Amino acid sequence: MRMTRLLANTLRENPAEAEVVSHQLLVRGGYIRRVASGIYNLLPLMWRVTRKVEAIIRDEMDQSGAQELMMPILQPADLWEESGRLKDYGKELMRLTDRHDRACILAPTHEEVITTIARNELQSYRSLPVNLYQIQNKYRDEIRPRFGLLRGREFLMKDAYSFHASESCLDKEYDVMTQAYINIFNRCGMETVMVRSDSGAIGGSVSHEFMVLTRIAEGEQESGENEVYFCEDTNCGYAANGDRAEALLPPSEARPAYEGKATIVDTPGATSIELMQQKFKMHPELILKSLIYMADGEKPVMVLIRGDLEVEETKLKNVMNANEIWMATPEELKELSGSAKGFIGPVDLPDSIPILADESIRELKDFYVAINEIDKHMVNANWGSDVPMPQTFTDLKLARIGDICPECKSGKLQMTRGIEVGNIFKLGTKYSEVMNAKFASENGEDKPFIMGCYGIGVTRTAAAAVERYHDKFGIIWPMAIAPYHAVIIPVNTQVPEQMALAQQLYDQFTKAGIEVVMDDRDERAGVKFKDADLIGFPIRITAGKKAGEGFLECKMRDQKESKDIPVADVLAWAQQQMQEWRPFQEATREKTDADKVTSA
Ligand code: ATP
Ligand code: MG
Repeated sequence: MRMTRLLANTLRENPAEAEVVSHQLLVRGGYIRRVASGIYNLLPLMWRVTRKVEAIIRDEMDQSGAQELMMPILQPADLWEESGRLKDYGKELMRLTDRHDRACILAPTHEEVITTIARNELQSYRSLPVNLYQIQNKYRDEIRPRFGLLRGREFLMKDAYSFHASESCLDKEYDVMTQAYINIFNRCGMETVMVRSDSGAIGGSVSHEFMVLTRIAEGEQESGENEVYFCEDTNCGYAANGDRAEALLPPSEARPAYEGKATIVDTPGATSIELMQQKFKMHPELILKSLIYMADGEKPVMVLIRGDLEVEETKLKNVMNANEIWMATPEELKELSGSAKGFIGPVDLPDSIPILADESIRELKDFYVAINEIDKHMVNANWGSDVPMPQTFTDLKLARIGDICPECKSGKLQMTRGIEVGNIFKLGTKYSEVMNAKFASENGEDKPFIMGCYGIGVTRTAAAAVERYHDKFGIIWPMAIAPYHAVIIPVNTQVPEQMALAQQLYDQFTKAGIEVVMDDRDERAGVKFKDADLIGFPIRITAGKKAGEGFLECKMRDQKESKDIPVADVLAWAQQQMQEWRPFQEATREKTDADKVTSA
């Protein structure tokens, strides 16, 4: 490919709406262009990267024994009615009506359709197990489409679904998929951590997420949407997504500032935990924090949690089985309780507001609590006599660095950032049961299929590679998913020796299967180097001053120095780099916390 032909306009400036580095660099490098919020054109460079990720996924899935198929994106809403998800999926489901006024959806995922395939095509245990997958666009009306390809409204996913006659057979396939996933991400040039993403409850379904850890080196800015908490003790190996991570609290040293029985004191203006601490010397660990959340359909709920802790809203959403929740606005607070922020509490609360209590408050003694009266708090309160003990407790808190590991109960928790690129899920009979998808078992009984599902965000994986591998000049693609392996830059297109040598190498590379772009633009060398760095070709070869003597300057994208190599040896050198090179191989990664994480 010649640069003068390649559709890749590089930009100097970061687009205003791009908050994360992969979004910025993919726009600036001429890879993607926004069409609408969360919807992008994948321009030729991006499509090449995407196709490479796809090819790796396809190869590993095929090797694992899965079969590729293609299901429709446009689906009748009836099917989703059958599974109950027409309602449950909420606003994220893209809905439309056809000309006959029939309700349709654009698929965000394919459990419903695949279950009908099993229902119609798989009659007996003899046809099991089966694992079917596709690589296809998905549609989700995300509340916050952002971060470019990391969270789009239209995006490419590999989704696989397996069907089994027994739990043990599903367990085996789960292990096969785990290995396939490790291979896929490794081949894409990225280490991943596998973290448990279910609550771990006995009898509950099991699922894991694969996270690309995005911190590159000490001190470098971290990115990645997810927080991953992990036990500092590598023998323990606990690792969990922040939205599900559990944590034990270190023992509290807090002492009450008041003495004696529960009393009501004046606390003018104490509208926040900080102010209660600063103005009234109330230790946050002794404050009972009361928050009102609103859920779908404006159902209110009061959450009680220890004053120094934060609510993890995903946990709350799961407990409430809600799609959307938000903290009550001042108006909503007033209407519901007659009180205001900071002074809402569980005492004399209207029955219409159920209470959800976090585990952290169970053991509280002599605590501070708001009583639904402006500028007043109760101090030295205790459960039972002063405040009714909540009926049920759950885990609603956000884990913190330094909390105690819930698994080994001794190590401290550490945190790093990551991006969820894939997940695997033991679905069990969730869909087969409601959709009446059954097979004849060995003893002739009709049984619902036992299912697993396995997703990978294809476009998200490509963007995650950019988050993981870049520097201030641009992208540093891992070889396996780079749009092209190499760029050849004649410094001055007017100098015949340079052009001749560049052309000679270009032909040689092309013949040898090395994907190469020749920067034949009549531009200054500086401009060409800048673009090569921004686009992120792993190999850069320059025909410059020494071209006349038959030498080319050869450089890898992550290295500062180049080497002069005689033209006859360049191909062999490049082929060796193709085999061995990984971005930042020599960087100081082993010093980062991220590397302490082991696979769960
Ligand atoms: P998330 O928690 O990030 O919203 P999810 O749990 O909704 O992800 P799944 O439904 O399991 O994700 O989808 C499988 C994979 O598809 C995810 O692991 C992720 O890599 C990718 N994915 C999900 N949503 C998006 C999106 N909006 N844009 C790009 N990729 C996505
Ligand atoms: Mg999602």
